[in-house]
Amino acid sequence: ANKLLEQTGTTIFTVMSALSLQHGAINLGQGFPDTEGPADIVQAAAGALLDHRNQYPPLTGLPELKSAVAAANQRFYGLPIDPAAGVCVTSGATEAITACLMALLNPGDEAILIEPLYDTYLPVVKLLGATARLVRLEPPDWHLPRAELAAAFSPKTKLLLLNSPMNPTGKVFTADELGFIAGLLTQHDAYAVCDEVYEHLVFPPARHIPLMTLPGMAARSLRIGSAGKTFSLTGWKVGYISGPENLIALAAKAHQNLTFTTAPNLQRAVALGLAKPDDYFTALAGALMERRDILNTGLQRLGFLTLPADGSYFITADISPLRFPGDDVEFCRAITTQAGVAAIPVSAFYAATPPRNYVRFAFCKQPDILHEALARLQRWI
Ligand code: PMP
Ligand code: GLN
Repeated sequence: ANKLLEQTGTTIFTVMSALSLQHGAINLGQGFPDTEGPADIVQAAAGALLDHRNQYPPLTGLPELKSAVAAANQRFYGLPIDPAAGVCVTSGATEAITACLMALLNPGDEAILIEPLYDTYLPVVKLLGATARLVRLEPPDWHLPRAELAAAFSPKTKLLLLNSPMNPTGKVFTADELGFIAGLLTQHDAYAVCDEVYEHLVFPPARHIPLMTLPGMAARSLRIGSAGKTFSLTGWKVGYISGPENLIALAAKAHQNLTFTTAPNLQRAVALGLAKPDDYFTALAGALMERRDILNTGLQRLGFLTLPADGSYFITADISPLRFPGDDVEFCRAITTQAGVAAIPVSAFYAATPPRNYVRFAFCKQPDILHEALARLQRWI
């Protein structure tokens, strides 16, 4: 058996969702919306199935979806992406991340990852025989320790994996931070893999800026999006990578050996979704921001110290003021089984020696569900 996979546990999202189900808890753990995505997109996917859209689509994606991805890059960020050679459609951003890492890393290379980190990054870097150099954001505001980031670069650095808006922190990297990162990438001639699945889930005044838009970055960045997040259809697993032709060609070769292609009816529906008017995207972020505010205010009232969350589905909170006799893992188990509210321990997003006093709550749920979760927590506390 592969030793690395033998040592890999079941993802914390699956573990906590199972516990949540078992105890009839409100699941504020795994990040998925509790309402369906836009009916017209779902209808388009169903229609495409009946319209004989059921054989292998092209390897890098249906031309109509690739054009829609390129057009969205132009519309939202002014990024000129070639619809034919600058886009590769994948089966979810999860596959896209793996494909980008496969495209760029050789055994012995170093990849810089930022903790707390999404759980698929580290195992894939290791499986490719590369070494992860970890840099930790610092609470209570999850700021980037610039000197430590600069020190993590070495002659072996091949890439930095940047997740903004970030899971689990909800951090949206600022123009200034991105400028600093871009400077380091240029100086060390390294690439960026940009996990931007939450690109449209950003709360004003925060604004999402793709690293790729910074001077010199277009040639060295691969930018990843996810229809699951952008259209509240997380089970669909349609992702897309945008970037320069030479890097997309490599990612496409990885994709060829991972899944080869992605369900054509879903691709067709996502193409329609990406062409939606600006109001759709503004309303999506607006509705989520309202939910972030409900949970943030409610958790603060209960005594949690919430940390800033400017984007994504998530807010993190320091549980120390609650004086719970246990760590974040025990806390999450306790609120799931006793209070009936599931959350995710933030220690699961660290490779080793994590902080043990932060938990992550997902707020992508209907307001009355969030109020009910807060009421349950209040009774338990
Ligand atoms: N990256 C991050 C940071 C995520 O939170 C997620 C969603 N779980 C993904 C990637 C994966 O997205 P997808 O469902 O499109 O594979
Ligand atoms: N990205 C989602 C989260 O962070 C979960 C994805 C998964 O279950 N693997 O909650």
